[in-house]
Amino acid sequence: MPELAEVEYYRKQWDAGVGAKVLAVELHAEKRLFRGVDLAALQRELTGAKLLASEARGKQMAFRFARGAWLAIHLGMTGKLRTEPADFTAGKHDHLVLRQRKLALVFSDPRMFGRVLWFQGAGEPPWWAKIAPPLTSDAFTRDVLRGVLQRRRRLPLKALLLVQDHFPGVGNWMADEILWRARLNPLRPSGDLSAPQSKSLWKEIRFVCAGAMKHVSHDFNDPPRGWFYHERWAVGGKCPRDGAKLARGTIGGRTTAWCPKCQLESNL
Ligand SMILES: [Zn+2]
Repeated sequence: MPELAEVEYYRKQWDAGVGAKVLAVELHAEKRLFRGVDLAALQRELTGAKLLASEARGKQMAFRFARGAWLAIHLGMTGKLRTEPADFTAGKHDHLVLRQRKLALVFSDPRMFGRVLWFQGAGEPPWWAKIAPPLTSDAFTRDVLRGVLQRRRRLPLKALLLVQDHFPGVGNWMADEILWRARLNPLRPSGDLSAPQSKSLWKEIRFVCAGAMKHVSHDFNDPPRGWFYHERWAVGGKCPRDGAKLARGTIGGRTTAWCPKCQLESNL
């Protein structure tokens, strides 16, 4: 499942088409990733429209076209964006192809857990406007985090970090990385943190989000050496801090790894 930086990486694949018009739209109309979309309007309005810009928010990305048209793509499990030469022939998993004069913008998704959204009108689409501001922005303050921790105080920290309404773009590996850095046990109830722990959690959320964007979003590199990321699924994975063998379990429905030595449940 793509997280913050992977989504950013795929969004940028279509940058080559910014400033150029869409000459034709090809799509597999019967596929479930278009459910609820007025495909006739999408095809009519995008044909001849110039791609103006794109933006990622959390796990969503949106492409803005002339005449107030917005196309949003959620990658799901196996969705990918890429470009191909203008005369390319679409394959069976290439469910949406926007043809421009010099290239084709392609969205492929073999397993089709992805989703396409469409909007045309003044201002931002409602589904776009409601996504929380980036965790690296000034809007994500320590008070905002404290408020969330209190409102969802019974939820284990790991499960809380996966709630996209509060932590847009944070996925499984990022949540584990954040908690390991903050030395917090993933099962800890969110409302239990001391003031210094809450501050440390805030700091590490920002650090991991910024680091993921810096290292992963450009060319899909892994995070730097020394990050928890590299040990999470390694056979015999060890804590980069103290060498303890990692513990694993399912929290919030997701496989979770942590260090039993420095992420004690009672590490107040
Ligand atoms: Zn450790």
